[in-house]
Amino acid sequence: MAAIAPFSLLRNCASSTARTFVSVKPACIVSSSTLLPLPQLSRRLQFHARATNNEEAAARAAAVNADSGAPTIFDKIIAKEIPSNIVYEDEKVIAFRDIDPRAPVHVLVIPKFRDGLTQLGKAEARHGEILGQLLYAAKIVAEKEGILDGFRVVINNGPEACQSVYHLHLHVLGGRQMKWPPG
Ligand code: AMP
Repeated sequence: MAAIAPFSLLRNCASSTARTFVSVKPACIVSSSTLLPLPQLSRRLQFHARATNNEEAAARAAAVNADSGAPTIFDKIIAKEIPSNIVYEDEKVIAFRDIDPRAPVHVLVIPKFRDGLTQLGKAEARHGEILGQLLYAAKIVAEKEGILDGFRVVINNGPEACQSVYHLHLHVLGGRQMKWPPG
């Protein structure tokens, strides 16, 4: 049966922007020798290409105003001006379900006070405390969601990592088998 190694078709991220992954329980490594039948691979790649194009276009559009200081949709969520499904909240941090979940559990953890943290790439030494609090809140979310045995924390930084909201946020993903490498 004709087959192609799928990972040879995945692009690498550029070095100026990055997706940060913290895999708490290593997802099983799928061997690069994993093979898919051509029709199945073709369908998967077409879907991947469409989704990727949309995400990349949205990310490029969002990046235009990244440093404007303009409020984002997350400010409305923090102010409770729009509804959200809050999973965890304390004085500094709020965590709510992603509106477009990519896993059975997909929660965003954000600082209530942005303080210049439009993205991880803007972090300064003074942000150390809140960055730690965000990561600890991610663990609390994983615990509350019952996924402590295996979850992933993702930070998309910049347009080449498909960041679409310029208010630092951690994606907490779980409830299914995570694959590696990610797209
Ligand atoms: P990123 O692409 O890494 O910047 O992630 C932004 C995330 O915010 C995406 O996963 C969106 O689905 C999510 N999102 C956008 N608007 C909302 C909203 N109103 N409520 C919950 N999640 C949202």
